[in-house]
Amino acid sequence: MGRIVDFPLIFERSVPGRRGVRPPVCDVPTQPLAELLGEHLRPEPPALPEVSELDALRHYTRLSQRNYGIDVGFYPLGSCTMKYNPRINEKIAALSGFTHAHPLQPESLSQGALQLMYELQQDLKAITGFAEVTLQNVAGAHGELLSLMLIKAYHESRGEGDKRKIVLVPDSAHGTNPASAALCGFTVKSIPTNAEGDTDLDALQAALSDEVAAMMLTNPSTLGLFDRNARRACELLHEAGALVFCDGANMNALVGVARPADIGFDCMHLNLHKTFSTPHGGGGPGAGAVGVSERLVPFLPTPRIEPTDDGRYALSYDHPQSIGRVHAFYGNFLNLVRAYAYIRAYGGRDLRTIGEFAVLNANYMLARIRHAFPPAVERLCMHECVITAKHYKQQYGVRAFDIAKRLLDYGFHPPTMYFPLIVPECLMIEPTESESKQTLDMFANALLEIAREAMEQPEVLQNAPYNTPVRRLDEAGAAKTLILRWQGTVIYPQEVPACAC
Ligand SMILES: *Cc1c(COP(=O)(O)O)cnc(C)c1O
Repeated sequence: MGRIVDFPLIFERSVPGRRGVRPPVCDVPTQPLAELLGEHLRPEPPALPEVSELDALRHYTRLSQRNYGIDVGFYPLGSCTMKYNPRINEKIAALSGFTHAHPLQPESLSQGALQLMYELQQDLKAITGFAEVTLQNVAGAHGELLSLMLIKAYHESRGEGDKRKIVLVPDSAHGTNPASAALCGFTVKSIPTNAEGDTDLDALQAALSDEVAAMMLTNPSTLGLFDRNARRACELLHEAGALVFCDGANMNALVGVARPADIGFDCMHLNLHKTFSTPHGGGGPGAGAVGVSERLVPFLPTPRIEPTDDGRYALSYDHPQSIGRVHAFYGNFLNLVRAYAYIRAYGGRDLRTIGEFAVLNANYMLARIRHAFPPAVERLCMHECVITAKHYKQQYGVRAFDIAKRLLDYGFHPPTMYFPLIVPECLMIEPTESESKQTLDMFANALLEIAREAMEQPEVLQNAPYNTPVRRLDEAGAAKTLILRWQGTVIYPQEVPACAC
C-alpha cells in the first residue's frame, strides 16, 4: 500500500530548531515551570513539529483542499440536509456586537442577543406550531435526549415515573433514537413499518401498555415518506397516557407547509444545521432547538428568555419544575444568529418554498433514476428518496457500497448508504432545495452511467474509486485499529512524488 497522503506529514517536515514565530524577549521576572506545575509537569516536552510559518500554512491549506463540502460540490447525503449555507448568515454572525458578546455580560448589556434568541424561538414556534421552544440543546441527538428528559419529568410529576419505562422506536429510526432513549434510562421496543412505508398501527396497538412512556417517531420517516399513520399513532399513544416525540431532522420537507404540533406531537427537536442552514461542523459547534406542547412547558431547561413589561428581555430561572440546564450558558449562540439570519432573509411567506422545492427536487431525482434504481416503496417521496440496488447485487455482484465508491470518480459525494436498515442495498438521496436542475441532471446521469457499468463491467465498480487521493480503504480495519496520533514512525513506505517540472 502506498502512503495515505502524497505530501509529507507536518511531523515529517520538522527540522530541529526551525521556527515560525519569534516571541518577544520576556521582560518580567520568570519562575521555573517545575515550581508552578509540580507533579503535573511532563518529563519530556511534547514532540511538536518544528516548522516555518510557510510549512504550517501549506500543511493546513493542503488538508483543506482534501475536504469535500457543500461549497465544493453536490452533497446528497440523505437525512443530513446538506443544503447551501447562504453567505448572508456568515456576514451577520461576524458582526462584532455578536462575536464580542460575553455570556457573563449583564442582561442590560445583552439585550440584542436576548432579543435575537427570543425572536428565533418565536419564529420556530410559528414554523412548528409548538407552545414553547428552547434553544439550549447543541445537536439533534442532544435534542432527543432533552425531549426524553422532559417526558420523563412529565411522567414523574404525575407519579408515573417508576411505571413508564418503555420507549417505542420504529425499525426505520435513526440510530440516535434508541441510543438517546437508552441513555435516558428507558427500555427500547421496536415498532415495525408496514409494506406501504407507514407505522404499523396493529403492531403499535399491541405494544401499548401503561408502561409505555413515549414513542419517538420521524415524520417524514427515514424512508423519505410522509407517515400517513402519524396522527393516529399520536392519538393511540395519548389514549395510553404516553407522549410522542417527533424526530425533526427531516423538517426540510415540512417548513412552511405543515406544522408537526398539528399532527399531535408533544415535542420535537430541530436541527438548525440541517433545515436552517447553519454549518454542519465536524462534530461541533452545533445548535439545536426543541419545541414542546403546553404540558411539557413547565419542565423546559432554564434559564428561559422572557420579555419584560418594559419591552426588554430577561433570563428567567424561576421555574421550579424545570429539568435544569443541559448546556453551559445558552447553547452555541453564533449558530443561532445564523439560523435567525436565514429565516429572516427568507421572510415568512417564502419559507414555504423551502419545503416545496426540497420535495420537488427529490421527486425529480427519483423520476430520473427510478427505472434503474427502484424506490424502496412505490410512492411520491418527500425531501429525499430511498432507492435500492439489490438487483445489481443479485445479478452482477455489485453492492450499493460499490456504487457509492464509483460516484466519487464522477466527482460527487455519495448518498447515505445502508440506512434505513430495513431496505436492502439502499441509497438515500437528499438533493435539498438549493440545487439546480442542471446539477440534479448531472448526478442522475452519473448514476445511470454507473448502472450501465454495473451490468457491463461490474469489476470496474468493485474496484472503484480510481480518481481520489486514496483508493479503496480497509474501512473496518481503520475503525477497529485506530491510529489517530503520529507515533514517530512513518507507517507507510514513503514514495517520492513524481516531479512535474
Ligand atoms: C441527523 C439526524 C439526527 C441526529 O442529529 P445530530 O445533530 O447529528 O445529532 C437524528 N435523527 C435523524 C433522522 C437525523 O437525520
